[in-house]
Amino acid sequence: MNTSQLTEPVNHMIEIDNITKEYIVGESTETAIEQMDFTVDDGEFVAVVGQSGSGKSTLLSILGGLNRPTGGKLLIDSLNIYNLSSEQRADFRNEYVGFVFQSFQLIGYLTVAENIMLPMATTGLSNKKQVQMAQNVLNKVGLDDKGDRLPDQLSGGEQERVAIARAVVNRPTILLADEPTGNLDSRTAGQIMELLRTLNQEDGLTIIMVTHNSDNCRYADRIIRVQDGHITDDGYHH
Ligand code: ADP
Ligand code: MG
Repeated sequence: MNTSQLTEPVNHMIEIDNITKEYIVGESTETAIEQMDFTVDDGEFVAVVGQSGSGKSTLLSILGGLNRPTGGKLLIDSLNIYNLSSEQRADFRNEYVGFVFQSFQLIGYLTVAENIMLPMATTGLSNKKQVQMAQNVLNKVGLDDKGDRLPDQLSGGEQERVAIARAVVNRPTILLADEPTGNLDSRTAGQIMELLRTLNQEDGLTIIMVTHNSDNCRYADRIIRVQDGHITDDGYHH
């Protein structure tokens, strides 16, 4: 038997390898993430849970190629993301990553459908095709007939659905969501979590969601707990 085959490294979709992030604030240095290591495989639904200030948003922005770590490396499909040029990294983001930001960041003077079409602006798809894809994704998130509304004509939960629709319209491999239920009542939050789970199970989307609310974790397959920039626990349900 050739034992070397047994010890060959597995290629994970995402590898966070000894990542540190320090922010310089005036004269002092704030360590938001300290020597963090973990991997995520294709198709996982991961919840990152921790108190406010524990480094969750920093971690998510690093994962999305938006925030260069001070140490360590991020590999996605074996690509060292922060070794890419900023143009290459922008291409990587467009192709691989959908973001749902903490505040929805919808454009108030554009309709829901127009908001959802924004990420397709650089794809070269015909307008007809873009309208069709926007409608498909609106149907997917349960807003079939809301495309012509302005964002402020929707409830908080509906705005969150629009933000999710916009994040997935280009069919990213990875969805990164920062406190997607942070501003919602618990029932609406549950519905948003159900939607994320459907996107994970039916469309195979890999999801990394950060939250300070442990209630949301039961929808994920795996829970990573963070405290002061460190992982304190990492485990799977069932
Ligand atoms: P969380 O999302 O868990 O609330 P953050 O990642 O936003 O945590 O913040 C982690 C730590 O890093 C906090 O102490 C915060 O003050 C600090 N921090 C975050 N962003 C910045 C920044 N742009 N400049 C300086 N410090 C920051
Ligand atoms: Mg945060």
